[in-house]
Amino acid sequence: MSTPNDRTRRAPRRPEPVAVRRGPAGPVPGEVQVLPTDQPPEGATSPDARPRLSFAVPPARGKAPKHLADYDLAGRKKALKDAGLQPFRADQLSRHYFTRFTRDAEDMTDLPAGQRDQLAGELLPELIHEVRALRADGGRTIKHLWELHDGVRVESVLMRYKDRTTLCVSSQAGCGMACPFCATGQMGLTRNLSTAEIVEQVRYAAQASERGDLTGGPARLSNVVFMGMGEPMINYKNVVGALHRMIDPAPEGFGLSARGITVSTVGLVPLIRKLAGEGLPVTLAVSLHAPDDELRDELIPINSKWKVGELLDAAHDYYETTGRRVSIEYALIKDMNDHAWRAQRLADELNARGHGWAHVNPIPLNPTPGSIWTCSTQETQDEFVETLRRAGITTTVRDTRGSDIDGACGQLATEVLNQERGRAKA
Ligand code: SF4
Repeated sequence: MSTPNDRTRRAPRRPEPVAVRRGPAGPVPGEVQVLPTDQPPEGATSPDARPRLSFAVPPARGKAPKHLADYDLAGRKKALKDAGLQPFRADQLSRHYFTRFTRDAEDMTDLPAGQRDQLAGELLPELIHEVRALRADGGRTIKHLWELHDGVRVESVLMRYKDRTTLCVSSQAGCGMACPFCATGQMGLTRNLSTAEIVEQVRYAAQASERGDLTGGPARLSNVVFMGMGEPMINYKNVVGALHRMIDPAPEGFGLSARGITVSTVGLVPLIRKLAGEGLPVTLAVSLHAPDDELRDELIPINSKWKVGELLDAAHDYYETTGRRVSIEYALIKDMNDHAWRAQRLADELNARGHGWAHVNPIPLNPTPGSIWTCSTQETQDEFVETLRRAGITTTVRDTRGSDIDGACGQLATEVLNQERGRAKA
């Protein structure tokens, strides 16, 4: 018989251990596994085409004209001096460019009228020329197709969100990484963009935002992501130059916050490590898309060189060095990489390296009936996300902007080219 005192002396009841429900550890019998090789790569011109990874950068057909944004302030002063102009004018030109977002000599009323054209002509030549601008998402997204001095074309996408305005820039014309789901990858690499050609995309976007081109009125460009055409790490030197122009305070650069800038890579491990040492605390985004080498070898050809484990080790070291949490990009592709066991494998890989260092962004694809590159069912997507969250991984399903105007990189350039070829034939 128990007494009240007995009850008070009794050891407190331990909470029942809560079993953390894990996803399956590997493929489950009977599951469907679609492979990247089940269909020719996107944009391939023959049915037996295979992705061809290439690190070769073809020689440029003539150099881009020299431009203020290719140099730091000291370099701009030297360029003016070499041209027989007053070096201190570099400071004024830089302020017009980086704070008023203009390269128009007429706007530069603080420069002597007789010298404006010469000064602007020396350091602010036209580098990118608008071929087409498409608006989507009720005018909150604008996608631009640009032509460069040698006729090469690249794209950028400007997007307005509730709390930020983001530009997605291209760092190369074409791309040598040959991801089979990407139209740009099948074009191959045409050339690297110069620092100033990258920075000009940013300057146009800052000007367009300030002018109120996006629905909702004037805005301040706050974020830049390197997720347009190209693999930024292959164009490392020019990309790092562009990062400096974006982050350095005026008159050196735009003075954007490094926190708002994201460099995305499919996984060039030595260059991830090099970027960590640049002292530029930008966000690193790893386009992972598969946690297992078996699938990733087929899905992201660079995986044949640097495996998932090496890539995640480098990404984790990037976090340790910069203090910036790494984004893991994961496009959910129906029956290819969206299995619950892959979500569990991804969570295990991340947790094995520590907690809180990575953030997963599952990206829903557009529905493309008849293609292997199509979206997961809502139920599968929910289960994938839930498996990650249950394992303690911060997970945010990405908003896929521009989906009604050829969201994937390279598609607008390909479409315009096809239309022009069609017109030429007619
Ligand atoms: S997805 Fe990115 S890295 Fe892969 S081919 Fe396309 S542009 Fe290149």
